[in-house]
Amino acid sequence: MTKGSSVGVKRNANLSNCESELFFWKLRLKVQSHLAIYPNSKVISLAVGDATEPIPQSITCAVEKYVHSLSTREGFSGYGIHQGLESLRTRIVEQLYNGLGVKTSEIFVSDGAKGCLSRLLMMFGSGLTLALQDATYPVINQLCSLFGQNIVYLAKKSEDDFFPDLSNAPHTDLIYFCSPNNPTGIAATKKNLEELVSFAKKNGSIILYDAVYSAFVEDIDCAKSIYEIPGAREVAIEVNSFSKLAGFTGVRLGWSIIPESVVFANGKSVLQDFHKVTLLTAPAGASSIAQAGGLAALSSESFKDVLKIIEHYKENARILLKAFASYGLEAFGGRNSPYIWLKIAGKSSEDVCDEWLERAHVLASPGVFFGPAGEGFLRISAFGHREDIIEAVERLDAIMLPCKSC
Ligand code: PLP
Repeated sequence: MTKGSSVGVKRNANLSNCESELFFWKLRLKVQSHLAIYPNSKVISLAVGDATEPIPQSITCAVEKYVHSLSTREGFSGYGIHQGLESLRTRIVEQLYNGLGVKTSEIFVSDGAKGCLSRLLMMFGSGLTLALQDATYPVINQLCSLFGQNIVYLAKKSEDDFFPDLSNAPHTDLIYFCSPNNPTGIAATKKNLEELVSFAKKNGSIILYDAVYSAFVEDIDCAKSIYEIPGAREVAIEVNSFSKLAGFTGVRLGWSIIPESVVFANGKSVLQDFHKVTLLTAPAGASSIAQAGGLAALSSESFKDVLKIIEHYKENARILLKAFASYGLEAFGGRNSPYIWLKIAGKSSEDVCDEWLERAHVLASPGVFFGPAGEGFLRISAFGHREDIIEAVERLDAIMLPCKSC
């Protein structure tokens, strides 16, 4: 058959519903066009949710040791268990879910939260309905399109209260809830989550709780895990990751928790079905090298180093929040999260993004990339080296503050 001629295979119709350009591609195109006009400009990105600080040496040394052991007869290991190392699952429970009733048998270690979410949605199958916060992590919307699932956005309670109005929310099979939320940077309070759990129970829905930014939570009235909420073990699956916790965005390691008490309408165990899906799609679990890194990251010694890096990003967020306040702009988030949700008025979020890029060579994410209610906002990421954050602020000062010498 010659190259380019069509075959008789029908294209998966769901693929035509997925956007070919996810938001990070759209941002990359913006930067490419900008550099074509200003080839010598140094663009500072406040747009991307990727870790920037090096992984602590205490973690990489442990990984190095493990890698060398693979070259020995005693240390070599082949296929792993699909659920991940028992020792890592135990450490996850001890370090992050102490006293919350999570069992190691309920944890599935994977190649990251995105992998967990796609496998979970694959398990639930096509045709079901899923509710989303507006705005939220845009990948979910695309995954649902891929798996032929139907999305509804939950309306917010009010302009400045980002928790959905559950009193008017439709019943859906699943509710994807991200807290602290990407992109708004808002962490739901425990009271909010109690409402969410009782709403899910009343409607017979399952919550997919995305907690990948939980390490940033500092307010005691906010939860780091949905399992801090009574009754959540009956209706909630939690997904988390080492990506934002320990800078593993490139290493790839995450986990899902499926409590044994979450069951389908026919009483069958969701956990048992997830075993099937994982055995079929990731039979040997996550890379053993990445898992060695995860084990080290959660050790009492390295965990302190991990938290120092989170604190670095939080300080970045405070610097940015201070600057936005001096411009008279209203900003949300940035406290229990690495994201700031910056309110803009009078122009579209893409126009403001383009203006910042053109005039300050600073890239932000247009809020509209994250859902219809994202219009009117920019998402600002506090992931960055300190000197870049400071320089971004100086450049923004120059275009946002009235000229002092005028
Ligand atoms: N969930 C949310 C809300 C995210 O923002 C991201 C990545 O930015 C992910 C999941 C994916 O994380 P991972 O790198 O573990 O796949």
